[in-house]
Amino acid sequence: MTEESAVKVCVRVRPLIAREESTASENAEPVQLFWRTDKKSIHQIDDGNSTKTFSFDRVFTAEETTNQLYQDIAKPLVVSTVEGYNGTIFAYGQTSSGKTFTMMGSNHIPGVTPLAVEDVFQTIKNCPKKEFLLRVSYMEIYNETVTDLLVDSWKRKPLEVRETINKNIYVADLTEELVTSPAQALAWLRKGEKNRHYGKTKMNQRSSRSHTIFRMILESRERSDLASGENADGAIIVSHLNLVDLAGSERASQTGAEGTRFKEGCNINRSLFTLGQVIKKVTEESQKGFTNYRDSKLTRILQNSLGGNAKTVIICTITPVTLDETLSTLQFASTAK
Ligand code: ADP
Ligand code: MG
Repeated sequence: MTEESAVKVCVRVRPLIAREESTASENAEPVQLFWRTDKKSIHQIDDGNSTKTFSFDRVFTAEETTNQLYQDIAKPLVVSTVEGYNGTIFAYGQTSSGKTFTMMGSNHIPGVTPLAVEDVFQTIKNCPKKEFLLRVSYMEIYNETVTDLLVDSWKRKPLEVRETINKNIYVADLTEELVTSPAQALAWLRKGEKNRHYGKTKMNQRSSRSHTIFRMILESRERSDLASGENADGAIIVSHLNLVDLAGSERASQTGAEGTRFKEGCNINRSLFTLGQVIKKVTEESQKGFTNYRDSKLTRILQNSLGGNAKTVIICTITPVTLDETLSTLQFASTAK
């Protein structure tokens, strides 16, 4: 085992986007920035009263690319999933802070997910003594309901989360597609994205309120032509790499939520809160007491990939121009550390 901690938390500050730049120029005022960063910490820029500082494994500035972030913080986890460990990478933050940009990418800038997929195949190439079988699945959790993004949207139905006698958690009837190249895996990712958006008028609202998990399932064993003696039975190791784009972390009260929206808000908060609790428990030295994975679908589904030998990376995305939501994100990030 390495000395590295199993949970890594980083912050990514996104650049200003056109909308924010133009609002500022209309008002003929400079954009007010609330945050200043160092390599490992972030400071609230204040009028001198109660300036807060938060420290993390790494803080990525607006100038740093997704690829730099991937190499620095995500790659070791991805490599360890090829070695047989479970790993999960989360993007956490308010809506429009850069979660999807970071995880999926945009136009010609690949996100962490395509970079990880590429890297899994590359890493496998460097393990000539083992043979691998790779599958992908893609699911959405909306209002505590799990659906399969790899089936056509009119066939989508709520799926159940179940447990085997060996305490492995699985989503019943979730499609797992066999893949033999990065291009194939990414084609499924795109298909899932299309299904996710199909026929939804309020697509953006829904997508900012749901969690998605793109999962690579890695099965490996010693090559049968090489296996000899006690290894001849070729025990199979299965590991999961989970790439998670979380729902926006903004509080229900701030989106003027009522009715359905309020329920959504509560469910989002419940799963994000539970996630925070679970990760906090995982990072505590003593790990005494009970971990409430069952309190949300998200943590239940990821139960086998959080804690134990599993590795976790949390990328907290923030904007430089918001104060309250960024504070709340940094507070979440601090409890997860
Ligand atoms: P979220 O998924 O958190 O709601 P998005 O990823 O959709 O937020 O980002 C909101 C907007 O900001 C998008 O237009 C996206 O392209 C842009 N954006 C986010 N992060 C960056 C970044 N690091 N560099 C450039 N543009 C970014
Ligand atoms: Mg998004």
